[in-house]
Amino acid sequence: MPSVAHLLRPDIAALESYTPVVPFEVLAGQLGIPVERIIKLDANENPYGPSPRAVEALAAFPHYAIYPDPDQRVLRAALSRYTGQPPERIICGAGSDEIIDLLMRALVQPGDAIVDCPPTFGMYAFDAGIQAARVINVPRDESFELDLEGIAEAVEQNAARMVFVASPNNPSGNLTPRAMLERLLDLPALVVIDEAYAEFAGASVADLIGQYPNLVVLRTFSKWAGLAGLRIGYGLVHEELIAHLWKIKQPYNVNVAAQVAALASLEDVDYLMANVAKIVAERERLYAALRSLPGLQVYPSQANFLLCRLTGRPTTGLAPSMSPARALKDTLMRQGILVRYYDKPGLTDCIRISIGTPEQNDALLTALQAFFNPEMSKA
Ligand code: PMP
Repeated sequence: MPSVAHLLRPDIAALESYTPVVPFEVLAGQLGIPVERIIKLDANENPYGPSPRAVEALAAFPHYAIYPDPDQRVLRAALSRYTGQPPERIICGAGSDEIIDLLMRALVQPGDAIVDCPPTFGMYAFDAGIQAARVINVPRDESFELDLEGIAEAVEQNAARMVFVASPNNPSGNLTPRAMLERLLDLPALVVIDEAYAEFAGASVADLIGQYPNLVVLRTFSKWAGLAGLRIGYGLVHEELIAHLWKIKQPYNVNVAAQVAALASLEDVDYLMANVAKIVAERERLYAALRSLPGLQVYPSQANFLLCRLTGRPTTGLAPSMSPARALKDTLMRQGILVRYYDKPGLTDCIRISIGTPEQNDALLTALQAFFNPEMSKA
């Protein structure tokens, strides 16, 4: 029987499989908890969902049988008003994830280097792997700040094509100061600043694109606009580079529903930003409350999530071999509260909690208090 194994690219054949996320309805079924009672704080989604105007526009749209505009003209015009950048510098993708992939394909040949600054968002290294790139890791320090000198050295020694910086960073939540980013922009590499959480931080470097052709800013509707499931993001890219991205983009990459919902969201920015303000207020409330728990170190965040490190062990019921962060994640999960757990360099004993509604956050706090101090919680 003919086999296909020998036909594969060797680097793809050797690539590790991606661990798929268990869909949330499936998990609810496994836990025996109705979907509407699950408190989903594990993927930095928006607890308030999309704008009602986006939902109405989706229901009313009459042309789903027609292919989308490959040039995304109407959406790019609206994004131009939203971002202050000309439409010529805007390209939309099926999530900002797709723009990362486009950039990688446009700039990186097998064996080329990119610089990654872990702990950070996993897609930069993931897409680099598909492209058979070398990933040069320049770790962040213990406060998750960038090592500027290390990055400069890595770029120089490896002739790196790209440097990826999420700001605010996922999962640490810290924003990189603008002056630091400006220093990176003097490097002979493309500097990709991923601003997926910019609306929660109230800061952006998109205005620098005209000045620095080597700057790309990534944005998304997944977080502030509650459209993660529709997959719509965009890149703000200098004219010199964007022309090449258009050449390799799949013509119909952004589906019609995503474009309709994104446009309606841009007509309802005040409503959506009021939700962002609620999330930011909750982030600050949760930060203070979590800090008061013994055994938990909480990192300040400019995004819609908080990174916490377990510094102690719960008073009861934990096998010595079990990581307390893993035990906490499992305990919360059994109560229908989902958080993200990490066990990798720089993130040992860490969990990341996305900010929910006030009610969801209260439920989380109650569960955490019980975890850290079961005796007290019974009183
Ligand atoms: N960048 C960062 C830093 C993220 O955390 C995420 C989502 N987790 C993304 C990009 C992906 O966003 P999108 O849904 O637009 O692909």
